[in-house]
Amino acid sequence: MSPMFVPGPMDVDPEVMDAQTIPMLPHRSKEFETIFHRAEGKARPLFGTQNRVFISASSGTGLQEAAVRNFAQSSVLACVNGAFSERWLEVAKSNGKSIDTVEAEWGQPIRPEDVAAALRQKPYEVLTIVHNETSTGLQNPVDAIAAAARGVSPDTLICVDAVSSLGGAPIEMDAWGLDFVLTSSQKALALPPGLALGATSDRALERAASVENRGWYFDLVRLEKHRLKNSTPATPATSLINALDLQLDRILAEGLENRFARYQSMATRVHEWALSHGFGLFAAEGYRSRTVSTVENLPDIDVAALNAFLLERGMRIANGYGTLKNKTFRIAHMGELTLADVNTLLAAIEEFMGK
Ligand code: PLP
Repeated sequence: MSPMFVPGPMDVDPEVMDAQTIPMLPHRSKEFETIFHRAEGKARPLFGTQNRVFISASSGTGLQEAAVRNFAQSSVLACVNGAFSERWLEVAKSNGKSIDTVEAEWGQPIRPEDVAAALRQKPYEVLTIVHNETSTGLQNPVDAIAAAARGVSPDTLICVDAVSSLGGAPIEMDAWGLDFVLTSSQKALALPPGLALGATSDRALERAASVENRGWYFDLVRLEKHRLKNSTPATPATSLINALDLQLDRILAEGLENRFARYQSMATRVHEWALSHGFGLFAAEGYRSRTVSTVENLPDIDVAALNAFLLERGMRIANGYGTLKNKTFRIAHMGELTLADVNTLLAAIEEFMGK
């Protein structure tokens, strides 16, 4: 198997892949409802919540849409400092919401005081923030931002995209006062793409009940009614949920603290290596991601040629995202990857550079 150092989809453990091939069960059967219930319960500790976790047959972007449709009749304050927070802004706009932004330069964190200042001007219904910007390799200080937001505007619902961090970095939804936290299956959870998980607070669900035009597929009020019966309104992705059920066992057996430490050791190794080999790191110091590093290509190596070289050795990294293409490249260190895998990759990059 060739280890993928691209930030999703990550490699999937063979046993977890196999879990998708067990025979189909009707989704409205006791047997499947038991699996659904079990998986939902096991997902909660990853979010740091006692609340419900919706399991959606969609990718994470579907739940970005769910957040703005369910929680805001009109006003959204979007924190924007990378490609995926820009996407969430576009999702909100395309759903007809009225939006203002708190921005930071790409590679710089959103500042809690800027969020507080914007909320002092207007008590927006929803605040959107991306925890881990996969484009820039930056982790926003969501706990401090949430505290600042709650201090100024306690009724604003705080919605967090943790697509590339959940299961890879600590997230304490209940302790930090978050209302909605969404993730995708194909990143730190190391599952195939196709599932999104969204943990939701009680007060967010209460708010949703009063918002008009929530749509149908991502209507969280409807999803909750079914979740209480361990089910979904439409057909769930049953094979992926079988894989999720097993993968959550594996993640909890590793232990979340051990998993976070494994990711941190890989992140630290990549950061130190980059800085000692003439590269830079795109994200500001103190805010660098545990799950993906965006390396500044200061020596101007040919990223496509590097990837071709790596592919011959059964590995693959990601070029920079959008306008950062070739100016940066990205090395993911999440999922099933280990420090030994990272060392093999870095040795191969050095070999390429020495050629
Ligand atoms: N948010 C972040 C931070 C991401 O990294 C991605 C995908 O890479 C998305 C949202 C979109 O997720 P999906 O492709 O699962 O819809």
